[in-house]
Amino acid sequence: MIGQMRIGHGYDLHRLEPIAPGGPGRPLIVGGVRLDHDRGPVAHSDGDVLYHAVTDALLGALGLEDIGQLFPDDAAENEGRDSADFVREAVRLISASGWGVVNLDATVVLERPRIGASKGAIRANLAGLLGVGVERVNVKGKSHEGVDAIGEGRAIEAHAVVLLASAGQG
Ligand code: MG
Repeated sequence: MIGQMRIGHGYDLHRLEPIAPGGPGRPLIVGGVRLDHDRGPVAHSDGDVLYHAVTDALLGALGLEDIGQLFPDDAAENEGRDSADFVREAVRLISASGWGVVNLDATVVLERPRIGASKGAIRANLAGLLGVGVERVNVKGKSHEGVDAIGEGRAIEAHAVVLLASAGQG
């Protein structure tokens, strides 16, 4: 018999702007890893697009309020906030509801820089936040083939799919 399971999907996009003193672009952080780039996300929090997508996937699996509802972008306490806090809160809500993470699969879409060298660190960060082994966390990087806003380096996007099982069945 197949145990109770839930699937969740998350998506996020941030504009990328030049990182300059007082400029709109924040340092580029993806999955908790700082990437060396001259552009960064425009965001109220630290703008970690992958953590945002993962948070919404986790919340969406249980039909809970989404990241924008739980952490309003006009709230002072979320200014510059470490987006790991959002993932932690989603995991806390899931655990409190009697669910655990089976696996996560995510895709980050950006033209530059390539995330290949950072994938291991990103997976480890996510596995730690989700409380699962790294073999249950997959992260892929894709370019946008030079077209549209992402391909022109003006935006970064992330997609995440997560599977949950009722506690004890993961
Ligand atoms: Mg976001």
